[in-house]
Amino acid sequence: MIVVMKRDATRENVERVKEEARHFDLEPIEMPGDERMIVALKGDERKVVTGRFKSLAGVSDVLPVLKKYKMSSRDTKWEDSVVDLGDGLRIGGKQQVVMAGPCTIETEPQLRAAANAVRKEGVRILRGGAYKPRTSPYAFQGLGLEGLKMIRAVADELQMKVITELMDIRKIDELCRYADIIQIGARNMQNYDLLSEVGKCGKPVMVKRGLSATLEEFLLAAEYIVSEGNTNVILCERGIRTFESEVRFTLNLGVVPILKNLTHLPIIIDPSHAMGRREYVTDMALAALAVGSHGIIVEVHCNPEEALCDGPQSLTPEMFTNLMNRAEKISAAVDMPLVRKY
Ligand code: PEP
Ligand code: MN
Repeated sequence: MIVVMKRDATRENVERVKEEARHFDLEPIEMPGDERMIVALKGDERKVVTGRFKSLAGVSDVLPVLKKYKMSSRDTKWEDSVVDLGDGLRIGGKQQVVMAGPCTIETEPQLRAAANAVRKEGVRILRGGAYKPRTSPYAFQGLGLEGLKMIRAVADELQMKVITELMDIRKIDELCRYADIIQIGARNMQNYDLLSEVGKCGKPVMVKRGLSATLEEFLLAAEYIVSEGNTNVILCERGIRTFESEVRFTLNLGVVPILKNLTHLPIIIDPSHAMGRREYVTDMALAALAVGSHGIIVEVHCNPEEALCDGPQSLTPEMFTNLMNRAEKISAAVDMPLVRKY
């Protein structure tokens, strides 16, 4: 950490900074400049209450050197993390995966039809929400436990893995019995108790970026999970809220190279929730693969007009087949082969 003193800072001010540094087990090193004094603080600065230095007399600026998200940062671990789901299925590293299925589990025939449609294209990770974070309390809230049982049964029949959302800490044991990947939705990215709790269980977790979260906030959310000992964390960019009203959210694919630089964790893109309309989803799904993400999560429904949730953005099976065939070529072009297992 670097503490920049004001031009008129006194010797007492500098001594006070040094004393505070020692209090946090940091070694202060004076670096006098032509115009002002700089005090470099050597040691692990992450537990320092930065406000303590900022509020000292004579201090102009406090500049951290290390990333606040220690365990998720490439500073701590250089190699890409790969989340192993078992049965030869992995997320991360030099390959791209597709997770697909309906937004919500509605009925067994609806889920089975969508699962069959994506399985036929070599997808082995089935998505589907049993607990849904709906904006309106009057909207369909999901089938709950009944839905979890349904998705597990369908996935087992088709030899698929299950990704499904956890909203409530009280449901964690129940959800862990049926899911292979726990999804933390965008609205819960800052539910820190929930993040810590999924950090204590060994299951892979996919955390979606909050609607207005900065990348640092996003990575700190992942850090809550990793710092509890669960390193099986996957990041998911799903679009953020901006002034643009033509799309549901603004999909910022520029985060992929940035996140790949900052963190070793895998990065998945969700073009469905970002674009909000099925006619835009395929193009952005392909772009997400072209930019080098570790895969995509896509909503598919066999009868989107009748879907209880997110019908307008759900791909039909025909559209999904087209997407998968084109995706394979893009993945090959960026040297991250598409995982398709029949
Ligand atoms: C979802 O994946 O169904 C979902 C609700 O996504 P998000 O949390 O990104 O809105
Ligand atoms: Mn949805």
